[in-house]
Amino acid sequence: EQEIYYKWTDELYFKLSKIFKLANFRNNQLKAINSTLSGKDVFVLMPTGGGKSLCYQLPAIIKNGKTHGTTIVVSPLVSLMQDQVDHLLALDIKATNLNSRLNAEQKNFVFQLLVNGELDLLYISPEMINASKKFQTVLQSLFRTHNLSRIIIDEAHCVSSWGHDFRPDYKQLNYFKENFCNIPIMALTATANTFVINDIIKNLKFNQNNMTLLRQSFNRDNLFYQILPKNSNTKIMVETIKKFILENFKNQTGIIYCHSKKSCEEVSEMLSSLGIKSAAYHAGMSANERIRVQKSWQNNIVQVICATVAFGMGIDKPDVRFVMHYTIPRSLESYYQETGRAGRDGRYSYCITFYSFKDVRKLQKMIQIDKSLKKENKTVHLNKLQQVMTFCENQFECRRNLILNYFDEKFDSNFCFQNCDNCVKKDLDLTETDASQIKEQDITETSLQIVDLVDSLGSDRVTVISCQEIFKGSKSAKIVQSGYTQLREHGLGKEWSKQDLERIFFHLITLKVLQEYSVMNKCGYGSSYVKLGPEARKLRNRKLTITMKFTITEKR
Ligand code: ADP
Ligand code: ZN
Repeated sequence: EQEIYYKWTDELYFKLSKIFKLANFRNNQLKAINSTLSGKDVFVLMPTGGGKSLCYQLPAIIKNGKTHGTTIVVSPLVSLMQDQVDHLLALDIKATNLNSRLNAEQKNFVFQLLVNGELDLLYISPEMINASKKFQTVLQSLFRTHNLSRIIIDEAHCVSSWGHDFRPDYKQLNYFKENFCNIPIMALTATANTFVINDIIKNLKFNQNNMTLLRQSFNRDNLFYQILPKNSNTKIMVETIKKFILENFKNQTGIIYCHSKKSCEEVSEMLSSLGIKSAAYHAGMSANERIRVQKSWQNNIVQVICATVAFGMGIDKPDVRFVMHYTIPRSLESYYQETGRAGRDGRYSYCITFYSFKDVRKLQKMIQIDKSLKKENKTVHLNKLQQVMTFCENQFECRRNLILNYFDEKFDSNFCFQNCDNCVKKDLDLTETDASQIKEQDITETSLQIVDLVDSLGSDRVTVISCQEIFKGSKSAKIVQSGYTQLREHGLGKEWSKQDLERIFFHLITLKVLQEYSVMNKCGYGSSYVKLGPEARKLRNRKLTITMKFTITEKR
């Protein structure tokens, strides 16, 4: 690929090495930088850890571009903003941030810095645009004096309501193009399919005649993906993990993601007692404690970190050899981001997820009772969880292919080169007589029977599990005594395996055909029971067909 020589090229390479102390550009960085310095609008789709920050931090200190002055960076998380600013200040780049946590005096100080041209970069939270008229005035004056260099929208997927993390505040960001139409804009994200990208470009009012769209493959070819069944006994699990580490990654670094503080601590303590230096990391610890743990992990004093998802943002350790999910992640986005922390140095690394349906249920409940989530968001989260479940239960298709397809990327699984459990299995299958297959199956009739059953139970308080047992035809004492063996629907589901029934019920809850409700007992503990959901009527009126994917093993 021929590299074009621009008037800023020398300055660019000089500052890359002198200020950022980096030897070369990574994939797409140079293209993004040259485009924005030429005055184009740029969209950058780059995986987490790909190096998005450099795409706008370096141009922000280039004097020979089409525009110069201050770069405004919109970023959704105040804590990440501060990290970035600290990092820049350490490099002697003039940066600060502006958010609603500052008091009036502090804000005025920032405005003064801006007006005096003393800032290369200003990080703002999106609500500042509308929250502060004064800020708007300052921006206008920067614009008039040609000191507004470019606008950066970080985590740009937040702009689109089709993206996975829509923020209403991001909708107002069309403000920039509406007021400063010739100031270049750059939007960056690690997660957006074609549809979302177009939505973002439209919402931000990109100059469609003068723009660059940069998207690169999300394939991480040095990562091996594997899903293993999870045993409910923590001790057995930790033994397994220990064995795995000693056999494959003795003295090498890894991360184990757990879903709760308690589980982080439990796993970490057990691993330590088995002689593997590990530490817990979660939001329940003080900031100082967390920094200490992170540092000792980064310096290889601690080998394994057992963390909740709070860990990892902005962490860059290139030699992470394994990432394990002790509990499944809540979405495939998280799966990709968290596993993506392995092998940044390009060397072979492992991503292992321990899967059990029990954990799916646990997370499902956590989402259902989460007071911070709005109703419609709960559905989104439940659907995402179900996608993770389907991914984990898939024992047939290339994992790489599944992940990349999820991110809207076409991938030929021949290019997985046996780097996932299913591809390895496929190779073995050639010599075996069993072949597994994923089949989509219509389960509308079964769903109707289940709806009838739940209806027959009336106002009885029955848990999802009991309901499954009745449907399967259990004659346990409890069920016989309650008279449920007399129900017409008792045993209608006897052909289904227990596991498939669990999945079907879960699916029906996700689709809101069934619903769980909690009743508090005297001690304040809630038990949840099942009832018909708002979509049950649609199913009964035959306005809803339900399908599900199943793994079918057939003997040839
Ligand atoms: P992203 O925002 O895409 O997740 P970052 O901008 O935080 O990624 O960069 C991830 C890591 O990669 C950082 O530690 C950064 O210093 C490093 N990095 C970025 N660009 C380069 C480069 N050209 N060469 C080497 N390291 C780089
Ligand atoms: Zn594969």
